[in-house]
Amino acid sequence: MSANLIDGKQAAKEIRIGLRKEVAALKEKGVAPGLAVILAGSDPASQIYVANKEKACEKVGIASQTIRMPETVTQAELLAEIERLNTDPAIHGILLQLPIYKHLNEREALLAIRPEKDVDGFHPINAGKLFLGEKAPVACTPAGCMELLRRAGVPLSGKRAVVIGRSNIVGKPMSMLLLAANCTVTMCHSRTVDLPSVTREADILVAAIGRPRFVTADMVKEGAAVIDVGINRLEDGSICGDVDYDAVAGKAGWITPVPGGVGPMTIAMLLVNTVEAAKAALNA
Ligand code: NAD
Repeated sequence: MSANLIDGKQAAKEIRIGLRKEVAALKEKGVAPGLAVILAGSDPASQIYVANKEKACEKVGIASQTIRMPETVTQAELLAEIERLNTDPAIHGILLQLPIYKHLNEREALLAIRPEKDVDGFHPINAGKLFLGEKAPVACTPAGCMELLRRAGVPLSGKRAVVIGRSNIVGKPMSMLLLAANCTVTMCHSRTVDLPSVTREADILVAAIGRPRFVTADMVKEGAAVIDVGINRLEDGSICGDVDYDAVAGKAGWITPVPGGVGPMTIAMLLVNTVEAAKAALNA
């Protein structure tokens, strides 16, 4: 059997086309969705992510601004900037690009973002709402994975889902979203005993580990939907996922590639969250 390829690039493009219309309609009602990205760190990858976010905003008509803070920035200055954006009516979404400079307090900074402007879904209030099954901005990567599963028509209700990884930004929210979709969910992590025996039970298998080609074909049930969140840079500079794609594609029912799977969806969901925040501001 050869798996159906789940094309995240194409899905993200379709989402952007829909958003462009929504943004135009909002502008007619007097609300121009705005996103502020705060870059207060020196990670080279962050520069690329921020540039990609700017480009994506431009494509759908969201006004984006990037606030670049120097390494000398103090925690007080960062918090003051967040507060300025919290009260700016032209800004509907605030994103603090992680990681931030080591001398800054990330947790305090994330807490300072108003939950209704927290388009990354990292604020404890929004994480708590997800846990309670209430509507709130959801972390973009797991939200993107769910969107891919739905668009591919993967049956979810009553199915066994296994998530490998328990981070606050991917594994945990992913598990909550699958639970909300009526899956029977198991969360696995580095201490899980006999991981393959658990993953082989999965109708839906999500890998969010950060280890190149960790999920091998013998860990996958025939016909399963395999979602690969991992982004691993290899020594030759190329990128691969957490799933041994070539081997698993021959066994799975559906599979996401890396690159071109979950990655493009993360930014698409950031745009969705920003437009949703703008809509909420209009109705407030
Ligand atoms: P993390 O390091 O915070 O978490 C990794 C998780 O994997 C941990 O919970 C750990 O328990 C688990 N793990 C580690 N070794 C394991 C093992 N041997 N067996 C079972 N579980 C094991 O990472 P993260 O932030 O959740 O990211 C995971 C991966 O997803 C990374 O490759 C990251 O680059 C990628 N990522 C991609 C996107 C995207 O847009 N596609 C977004 C966020 C993260």
